[in-house]
Amino acid sequence: MSILVFIEGVEGEVKKSSLEAVSYATELAKKKGVATTAVAIGNFSATALSSIGKYGVAKVLHVTNDKLAQVNVMAYATALAEAAKKENAEVVILPKSSAVDAIVSRLAVKLNAGVVTGAVDLPDTSGGFKVKKSIYTGKAFTTVELTSAIKVITVAKNAFPATETGGSAQVEVFAPAIPESDFSIKITKTEKATGEILLPEADIVVSGGRGLKGPENWGMIIELAKELGAATGCSKPVSDMDWRPHHEHVGQTGVKVSPNLYIAIGISGAIQHLAGVNSSKCIVVINKDPEAPFFKAADYGIVGDAFEVVPKLIEAAKKL
Ligand SMILES: Cc1cc2nc3c(=O)[nH]c(=O)nc-3n(C[C@H](O)[C@H](O)[C@H](O)COP(=O)(O)OP(=O)(O)OC[C@H]3O[C@@H](n4cnc5c(N)ncnc54)[C@H](O)[C@@H]3O)c2cc1C
Repeated sequence: MSILVFIEGVEGEVKKSSLEAVSYATELAKKKGVATTAVAIGNFSATALSSIGKYGVAKVLHVTNDKLAQVNVMAYATALAEAAKKENAEVVILPKSSAVDAIVSRLAVKLNAGVVTGAVDLPDTSGGFKVKKSIYTGKAFTTVELTSAIKVITVAKNAFPATETGGSAQVEVFAPAIPESDFSIKITKTEKATGEILLPEADIVVSGGRGLKGPENWGMIIELAKELGAATGCSKPVSDMDWRPHHEHVGQTGVKVSPNLYIAIGISGAIQHLAGVNSSKCIVVINKDPEAPFFKAADYGIVGDAFEVVPKLIEAAKKL
């Protein structure tokens, strides 16, 4: 018996959410007294792969098939199912992401496994196998019991800290048989999001809304983000009006983020926007209207004009 954890990458590096999943997997493995194996699919640097060992994994299976350089949900599900069989995995852990959301259901079918998505805590194994997960876009929690022999869990972003425990991993090339029928869909073009820090991965997000009046005023949002090492986001109308690119649109119909700090500037806090941000650890709202609904979801609020408050924040951030 073992625990398998899927490593998602970006440009050859391991995503932070994958390291969180690794820590989750190794803690669970400790509880159950079994080993953890990681599976990385596609292109990764050798350093990135061996560094996974620092988080408690002793073995990394690297699937290096050229056809898997870009995510293919069917083939990735097959590769993971084959790895789970090879390692006799009892639990498969994956970091939650839009690609994983599509992979996980296929993987569960292949393994005849029960699935929990968006776990926020380690399973309670004292009597059965119960997993706490977030529901209603982070507004509530529920506990689900898995009774299948094999269990598949995706871990919510920022719910479980990635903790270095020392050690190094042995990297082993793994070449599972993947049928040609898994490649019936092919990505022909990829457009990369601009910006140095990717919005879904960011620890800090500085987001602007219609209160900023126009695209010409985004300089201060970008400058604040730069000073804080943050990604920039925006509300839906802002991207609909082409003030900002669509990949920055946060909310129910856009990117869902769960950073440690979300700074909302000139955004009213409509439920559709909150649906994409309410699992953030700390929310700071800057709005000139004290009745703006966003203040109800805020940890800290500044009632004031963004054009006065943001330059002061930039000055303060520069001094840090
Ligand atoms: C099906 C559906 C899906 C949707 N999905 C999304 C989604 O995914 N994401 C999303 O964001 N929206 C979404 N919306 C739209 C959502 O309902 C709101 O209309 C939108 O979020 C409002 O954007 P906003 O807060 O930028 O603008 P507004 O509602 O116009 O709010 C602007 C805010 O700025 C404040 N303000 C004005 N001037 C200043 C100033 N100088 N300084 C400080 N504050 C100032 C105002 O007090 C106000 O609170 C969706 C709507 C529908 C119907």
